[in-house]
Amino acid sequence: MSVTTPLPSGESQAATPAALIDPFNRHVTYLRVSVTDRCDFRCVYCMSEHMSFLPRKDLLTLEELDRLCSAFISKGVRKLRITGGEPLVRKNIMSLFRALARHLETGRLEELTLTTNGSQLEKYAGDLKAAGVRRINVSIDTLDAQKFKAITRWGDLSAVLKGVDAARRAGISIKINAVALKGVNEDEIDDLLRFAHGNGHDLTLIETMPLGEIEGDRTDQYLPLSIVRARLLDRWTLEDIPFRTGGPARYVRVKETGGRLGFITPMTHNFCESCNRVRVTCTGTLYMCLGQEDAADLRAPLRASPDNGPLFEAIDAAIARKPKGHDFVIDRRRKQPALGRHMSVTGG
Ligand code: SAM
Ligand code: SF4
Repeated sequence: MSVTTPLPSGESQAATPAALIDPFNRHVTYLRVSVTDRCDFRCVYCMSEHMSFLPRKDLLTLEELDRLCSAFISKGVRKLRITGGEPLVRKNIMSLFRALARHLETGRLEELTLTTNGSQLEKYAGDLKAAGVRRINVSIDTLDAQKFKAITRWGDLSAVLKGVDAARRAGISIKINAVALKGVNEDEIDDLLRFAHGNGHDLTLIETMPLGEIEGDRTDQYLPLSIVRARLLDRWTLEDIPFRTGGPARYVRVKETGGRLGFITPMTHNFCESCNRVRVTCTGTLYMCLGQEDAADLRAPLRASPDNGPLFEAIDAAIARKPKGHDFVIDRRRKQPALGRHMSVTGG
């Protein structure tokens, strides 16, 4: 089924619903929505090889996703990131982007964006641009085709690179996200930097986070970005810049390339005091913090009434419980993930 505009419910009835302000006076203006838990890759740090996925009936429909996103936008969300699993493998996903584009046109939404593994990007780059998507994040951990296959298990690097090129030609700005993995891509950071900046893309390095059961040992994968940064300083001049997104990334300008380099270090730094975001899973569960278990079900109030009243109440009650911060830890003794859910559930 596809989303058609104008939408049936909610939007026209509300005056201006109360803004999303948490107990620590942080304004929630950024929503990340996972539209599927499925993926056409099986990245070793993200999923186990044999994942069981949710039954389709548990997933919010595209219409429900649109209504949910629109409710958040009416409560002051200015930036919306569609993620997954792999968002571009969800059937008819472009109809959701096209429907959400109306909020860009009214100016209520500043940015509609996407995090993708890039496998379907060649097909969708033009449609995304037409729906008002100006920037996207594409995850690429290595430029070595064999290593790419080993990390993603099922991925094809050349298809992803074609997708990146298609997005660039469509006029979409690209940030490459690379998870830093000990003994896997730590010797390739310079190549990733040259590739990204040489093609006009930003690059962000991410530390592995202990989310969900995987086959390997996470303490083997964990590479502190403080080490990566120190090594980069041997060859590159990193200039601190004030660019911030309210999230865990800290950015520098690489003097030699002129490009921007970000470091996402949830394990070694505390970024929570400026947190402006919440996450919704593809089943409509709202997580107020990536690193905490507390969550609120939005699917029941969404389905309970075509009116948005119950939904707004559930959102307000959840935001009132947004915790001050997370407490990620990779437990070296028990080798357990700090949280049972996979990143593909909350979308990172
Ligand atoms: N499939 C899309 C992709 O790969 O970009 C979107 C979803 S994916 C869960 C979002 C991001 O989370 C990707 O950049 C991925 O590398 C990252 N990620 C997944 N599991 C992670 C983990 N355990 N620690 C750190 N980053 C992780
Ligand atoms: Fe799929 Fe993205 Fe997870 Fe890789 S990181 S398995 S591409 S959801």
